[in-house]
Amino acid sequence: MTEISQNRPGADALSELLPPLTRNEAAVEAARCLMCYDAPCTHACPTHIDIPKFIKRISTHNLRGSARTILESNLLGATCARVCPVQELCEGACVLGAEHKPIAIGRLQRYAMDYAYSNNVSLFQPAPNTGKKVAVIGAGPAGLSCAGELAKRGHSVTLFEKRDLAGGLSTYGIIGLREPVEVAQAEVTMLTKLGIKIETSKELGGNLGFADLQAQFGAVFLSVGLGITNTLAIPGEEHILDGLEYIEQSKLNARKLVVGKNVVVIGAGNTAIDCATIAKRLGAAQVTMVYRRSETEMTAYAHEYEFIKREGVRFSFLTQPLRVVAENGTVTALECVRMSLGTPDASGRPAPHPVAGSEFLLPVDQIVKATGQEKPSLAALLHLKTDKGYIQVTANFETNVPGVYAGGDCIRARGAASTVMAVQDGKLAAHSIHERLVARG
Ligand SMILES: Cc1cc2nc3c(=O)[nH]c(=O)nc-3n(C[C@H](O)[C@H](O)[C@H](O)COP(=O)(O)OP(=O)(O)OC[C@H]3O[C@@H](n4cnc5c(N)ncnc54)[C@H](O)[C@@H]3O)c2cc1C
Ligand code: SF4
Repeated sequence: MTEISQNRPGADALSELLPPLTRNEAAVEAARCLMCYDAPCTHACPTHIDIPKFIKRISTHNLRGSARTILESNLLGATCARVCPVQELCEGACVLGAEHKPIAIGRLQRYAMDYAYSNNVSLFQPAPNTGKKVAVIGAGPAGLSCAGELAKRGHSVTLFEKRDLAGGLSTYGIIGLREPVEVAQAEVTMLTKLGIKIETSKELGGNLGFADLQAQFGAVFLSVGLGITNTLAIPGEEHILDGLEYIEQSKLNARKLVVGKNVVVIGAGNTAIDCATIAKRLGAAQVTMVYRRSETEMTAYAHEYEFIKREGVRFSFLTQPLRVVAENGTVTALECVRMSLGTPDASGRPAPHPVAGSEFLLPVDQIVKATGQEKPSLAALLHLKTDKGYIQVTANFETNVPGVYAGGDCIRARGAASTVMAVQDGKLAAHSIHERLVARG
């Protein structure tokens, strides 16, 4: 086992993967854009940023105007420029993708946003104060977006966050290769300039009461995300590290992160890929991802799968962990069983079944699990209706409790959760909350 030190060779192995575009590169890339009418890239963006408009503004060296165009649709433009699966969204829809190279929309967006942040550009002035108060619970992308949109309309917003830092998974969960902590924190600072009050270390259901919130605020927006990593319920699980904590340490406390020589990551989604990347880049000699289904069913994006294969990570498909083998508290192996696939289960994917007598030991000194997050526990506590365990909302993002709205991962019963979807939820919910507050005079 090795302890990571910032001074050790390779300690910067998790810094931002893509370099920023130079002025010349940005100009050349912007000039390639066809400025399509009714642009497919804009339709493909969940927040509908006017992409040809912001690119045009880059090509005319109006970077302030470009940043404004982005932020008008998406207040978390700097985060989304880095973390959005652009291959699946705007760049995937770019008309130049068919025969040539799609426009590097994400990197151009980052170019404009980096200009705005490095020049401390102030782009929005809040409307005059309306005297209406809104509480937002959870300072991740959904909460920040909702709070920012409401503050722009002149409402007084207090954001309550249970952790020490705001930003949600952008701060704590997204691997530093894609988004450094500083980017998420700069966005939080920009939003506080709109007058949002952020109270950290305040947990609804802990040191913050729901009844008090309802009495003090005209509306409440719940953007609490999901819970801790799902349990595997296997013997020895106490020796398995939580993937979300592994990533968090790599971002915020890399010096203290202990990485094994022979690491197994359980799971095959995007979080599992991030954990495997961290282990590999921070010195593990061998990293194996263990997944009970096959390559076809894995939930990670195709481009992430290609990336992790290039990183040299191995895969053990059709493999289910059974128990952790540990001697005197030290992990030595993971006992697994081979699986075969049957008919589809409730998830629509072929159900994995153990192959009798195929148990085997995988030698390993560190195991990390990335097996999805638990559903939001707050739903039961607040007696909210749920859909598959997620908070149920109307088309206006209102829960079954009048005046209580929700958005982001905590309502995402269908489709892949992503930052940009959470931002859009927050924006649309802010619109509904604004209508409610205005209607009530
Ligand atoms: C490891 C990982 C990597 C990811 N990578 C990407 C990526 O590259 N690209 C992408 O688009 N998406 C990615 N995602 C998904 C993306 O991060 C989420 O979809 C997005 O953060 C959801 O935003 P949210 O605001 O709904 O929730 P969160 O970001 O989870 O924020 C919820 C916030 O609420 C707070 N909170 C929770 N309960 C309470 C309470 N009771 N009281 C007060 N505060 C509370 C939490 O501390 C947190 O700050 C990733 C997710 C994970 C787990
Ligand atoms: S689809 Fe491609 S070429 Fe057309 S406006 Fe969007 S980025 Fe430009």
